[in-house]
Amino acid sequence: RAPGGQVVIPFAEADNPTKVVAIASGKGGVGKSSVTANLAVALAKEGLNVGVLDADVWGYSIPRMLGVEGKPVAFNNMVMPLQAHGVKVISIGFFVDSERPVIWRGPMLHRALQQFLADVHWGDLDFLLCDLPPGTGDIAISLAQMLPNADMLVVTTPQQAAQRVALRAGQMTAQTGMRVSGVIENMATFVAPDTGKEYRIFGEGGGQLLAAELDTELWGQIPIDTRLREGSDNGTPLVVADPDAPASQRFTEMAKRL
Ligand code: ADP
Repeated sequence: RAPGGQVVIPFAEADNPTKVVAIASGKGGVGKSSVTANLAVALAKEGLNVGVLDADVWGYSIPRMLGVEGKPVAFNNMVMPLQAHGVKVISIGFFVDSERPVIWRGPMLHRALQQFLADVHWGDLDFLLCDLPPGTGDIAISLAQMLPNADMLVVTTPQQAAQRVALRAGQMTAQTGMRVSGVIENMATFVAPDTGKEYRIFGEGGGQLLAAELDTELWGQIPIDTRLREGSDNGTPLVVADPDAPASQRFTEMAKRL
């Protein structure tokens, strides 16, 4: 804490060496959390110190995807993050009753996120990945304001109507210091395991279009893979379960670009 009680967020300091990357999406269900989990593990496999802040306050799924359970303990007034697959994790899910929906009001969520950034013993991180709530609502914006030096990656499916998302993401970056560094198109193709035939289940072009609208680059396309979904369900990200799977290779390439 700074004198006067103001909360100091080390990640927001200009000389902080941690690269902060916020993972955003226009809507839920496009694979934002799966991308966050797999990129984090891919970075950790490179020997980097990685933290994941699960700020998807309504749909937190990072604990399940990375297979972390339990309640973090406090030490010297700092909360110790939990760890899995070499990644440090803090999620709102650790602090709420999983049987009950989160009905906190905006200011409380704002405080909680502030604490996750200021009062968690992250240690010396090379990367902090933040899984934002879908859309560009108040929580996403207030987090973005706490992390003015962060880069934003936007996850989309091939079919998503790009323009509205682009507009809102653009507004979000304009209101904060963040910049969009790229677009990731998820669920781009499906290769039938029996015939090898490729299908474009969700259409095509959404990633390219969104990247153009946001004046940024399409970083790559992640195929649909049943094992990716299974890995998310059982706490072993595909990058760990099968590093040679095409989707894992894409994640590994993208992690090198972060
Ligand atoms: P979001 O964070 O955008 O809400 P999730 O990462 O939770 O989305 O993904 C939604 C669902 O789709 C999850 O069950 C996840 O396992 C699954 N999923 C995401 N990406 C893929 C993919 N490329 N192939 C197969 N299943 C996927």
